[in-house]
Amino acid sequence: MCIFCEIIEGNIPSTKVYEDDKILAFKDINPVAPVHIVVVPKIHIEGANDVSADNSSYIASIFEKIPEIAKSQGIDSYRIINNCGEDAGQTVKHIHFHIIGGVNMGEKLL
Ligand code: 5GP
Ligand code: ZN
Repeated sequence: MCIFCEIIEGNIPSTKVYEDDKILAFKDINPVAPVHIVVVPKIHIEGANDVSADNSSYIASIFEKIPEIAKSQGIDSYRIINNCGEDAGQTVKHIHFHIIGGVNMGEKLL
């Protein structure tokens, strides 16, 4: 089982900030900003290349809930990041979306 499936199952502790039947959001263990939340679907989808009509409702749920999750952390301006594959720096092979905020990031890379 992958590390995020273990977190979903409750086998590895996490600081949860939102949960429903389809998605889980928790604080990143190694935050890069004052707010750094990881949002995952509660099914194992390896990465963005594996999103399909069969599982995209989970991804839709994530995006439906992101504003509420961000608001619960006191922010309404944030960056959403998904790393897909090795070159992009995806270290956990269970699709996830980083919500990063609480600091002025400027324009930088994007
Ligand atoms: P990636 O680099 O794959 O886009 O992001 C993986 C993220 O998961 C990293 O930011 C890393 O800090 C976080 N992470 C890895 N293992 C754990 C863990 O056990 N608990 C939590 N809360 N975050 C984790
Ligand atoms: Zn998984």
